[in-house]
Parts: sequence; C-alpha cells; structure tokens
Amino acid sequence: MLSAELYIRNAQIVTETDTFRGGVLVENGRIVALVEGEPEHGASETFDAGGMLLLPGLVDAHVHFSEPGRTHWEGFLTGTQAAAAGGITTVVEMPLNASPPTVNAEALLLKQQAAARSALVDYALWGGLVDDNRADLADLQAGGVAGFKAFMCASSTDFPRVDDVILQVGLIRAREFGSFVAVHAEDEEMSQKLMAELRDRGRTDRRAWGEARPPEVELSAIRAALALTGRTGSRLHVVHVSTAEGIDLISNAKAEGVRVTAETCPHYLFFSEEDLVRIGPEAKCAPPLRSPERVEALWDRVLAGAVDVIGSDHSPCLREEKEAGCEDIFKAWGGISGLQSTLPALITAGVARRGLAWTDLVRMISANPARLFGLYPRKGALAAGSDADLTLVDPDAVSVLRSEDLFYKNPHSAYVGQEMRGRVLRTWVRGRAVYADRRIVAEPGFGQLLRGPGLPENG
Ligand SMILES: [Zn+2]
Repeated sequence: MLSAELYIRNAQIVTETDTFRGGVLVENGRIVALVEGEPEHGASETFDAGGMLLLPGLVDAHVHFSEPGRTHWEGFLTGTQAAAAGGITTVVEMPLNASPPTVNAEALLLKQQAAARSALVDYALWGGLVDDNRADLADLQAGGVAGFKAFMCASSTDFPRVDDVILQVGLIRAREFGSFVAVHAEDEEMSQKLMAELRDRGRTDRRAWGEARPPEVELSAIRAALALTGRTGSRLHVVHVSTAEGIDLISNAKAEGVRVTAETCPHYLFFSEEDLVRIGPEAKCAPPLRSPERVEALWDRVLAGAVDVIGSDHSPCLREEKEAGCEDIFKAWGGISGLQSTLPALITAGVARRGLAWTDLVRMISANPARLFGLYPRKGALAAGSDADLTLVDPDAVSVLRSEDLFYKNPHSAYVGQEMRGRVLRTWVRGRAVYADRRIVAEPGFGQLLRGPGLPENG
C-alpha cells in the first residue's frame, strides 16, 4: 500500500496507448503511481472520480492571449481560466497580438511578467521570427522561448512576415539552438492577388473569404517551407494545416527524412465553409474553413494518424471586430475563440461521430504537443514521475454552449449555440484543483513558466 497526498480513484484512465479502470496517486504535485482497479491506498485526500474519464491535461500548443498591450482582447488571467475550464493544463502562447509582439528580450520579459502575475495553468511562450530581428533570436532562445513562430503571409497585427531568405536564416539559427520554427503557411503573393481581384469585383460576401485563400495558397507555402527545411536540415512545425493535401505534403516530406510536424485545429474539423456562410464573421479564420468534402478528407488523415498535434489557435478579439465584417467579410477579425471548447469539439466531431479512439485523441492533444517543446513526459503523460496535470471528463454529457459559460474576456465564439458532447468536470495542475464544478478554484499566478527546447537544464 502506497501513501500519498491525493488518491483519485474509480476513474477510467486514458493514456496515449491504453485505457483501463483505475486511479492515480499524487504526491508533491507529481504522479507517484497509476493503479489498476480500486485497491486501498492511504492518502490525505481521496477523490472519487465516479467512473468518469481521466486524461492527461491538455497541452495547447497554440493560443493568443494578447497581453501585454491588448489585454482588453484577452489576457493571461481570463485566457488561463478558460484553459482550466477546458481541461487544458499547459498553454503555449504565441508571440503576436500582444503589443509589443514577442520579438526581442525586452518584449519577452514583459510577457513573462504579465503571465507570472496572472496565469493559473502552466505556460510556455513562443518567440517571434520577423523580418528584422535576427540579432534578437539568441536572446529569445536564452530567455527560454518554446520555439520560433513566423508568418509567411501578412498577419493582421504588428508582426511582419518573413520572406524565404529570412525564413532560411531563422531555420538555421533555430537548428543551432536545438529549437525549431513554426510557420503560418499561406502564400502572400497569391492571396493578395486573389483578394484584390475579388474586391475589384465588389465581392464582400462570406464565400469570398474562402475564394481569396483557396487550398493552393496554403499548399504553395507549405511546399516552400518544406524545401527550405529539407535543405537546411532544420526542424519545422506547420501550424493550423486546413487541408488533407497539406497534411500529405508533410507526410511525404517526413518519409523523405525531413524533420517536420503538422498541427490542425478543432475548427477545421468541427466546422466547414457552410458554417462560415451560416454563422458569419465569428467563423472567419485564416486559413479559411474548407468545404464539407475537404473536412472529411482532413478527418481521414487525423484518423490515419498523420496529424501530430491539434491546437486551438485561440485568437480572441472584441465583439465589434467581428461585427465589422457583417456587411464586408474582409473587415472582420480573422480568428476564432476556441480554447475552452477544444475538448468537447473533438469529442463531438471525432469520438462520437467518427469513432476517433480516446488514446489517439490524447496523443494529439496532450502527448505530442508536449513532445514538440521537449516537455514530455513531465507534461502530456499519465505516468509515474509526470506532473499531476489531470482532466476529468464526462464523455456523454450533452449541452449547448452558451456565451455565459465562457471565461474569455470577450465571451463570443463561433462555437456558441453549438450542441457539444463531453464536459470537463475537474482540472488539476500539479496536483492542485484549478477548476471544479464549473468554477475556477485556483489563484492567479499559480501557473508556472516552462522553458522550451535547446536549453542546458532541459537536457
Ligand atoms: Zn495563431
């Protein structure tokens, strides 16, 4: 009989390889042991999981909290509250939409201070690779960034895009650091031309957004990034791939030995272009939502194991910035607030509708994102020695998402009004409950900074 601070018993344990009836023993914020069945163990606190599913806490590799500078859009407090309510125990926050963007050591420090004050789940911070910060990359690396994010097309905020020359420099520097580059892959020239043409013809309707950024815009940029990565022997991560063809380009490159991983997002799997037409600007994102046929093709790749990571790309804004696109879709903010609904969206569209295995889901939302940043198995795993980051889920609860359920600073989202299956009941970070019975139960600042790959102390 082992003794521990906390014994979570009577759960259905889900790891990336296995599911079984059992429990978890926690001591000093870490998992001491997984147990099978319901043996007796001495513990200061025992929690009966009521037969519900216990997953390793989600690691969301892609969120925008826009603090400092645009904290009225989101922020580390509201963003990590929403994360806790969504079963997410680690967030990796993007370098853009905060002001200043995280492209040098000073900006990184500002962001670390903001996060330290407010975050209530653990976090790591991306650094930015932009057109003029080559001299800052070493400082960002020394500051512990999780990786380097670059845009191949123009972004909507003050975060300049890279051309092929700068992307190549960034890939080489990241390789030297033992880190990697993540790209937003859309072809700038192609999308600008298509958009200008549509606007000249007076097109402002919802379908025009998809026509301005068809699959070829994404595929062309992915091809370019893969070629540079292969040539430089660097490591690449392609964020928010929206098409099966994009995943196939990445799978083919992997087969040729290129070090590359692929992310897709819940909204490319839950919604289609028809939802953009129906819902309107709330469902605008870049790359755009695709046709129902393309959504099915992307699901085929997910089910086949070809997608490494599913991240929310939580991209919040004010309500007005969505409403601005009611008459002219090009004027709406291009991003979906989806952090809190990642898990129910994937349970609904994946597990319930398409037979996605829970173990495969855990691989894409917990284990693989932790591996991406060198955080596995401390994060992303249910195993002895791992941090006790845990998410308890009722897989069968069905509810319609309401804006009052959302912890976002601006509680609007394309998911509001959607019927969703699966409810997060409780979330623990390092053994401490942070969300329980629909309430946040942790203090701001409980979250800890995690440093990225390539640093000596991370081995
Ligand atoms: Zn993003």
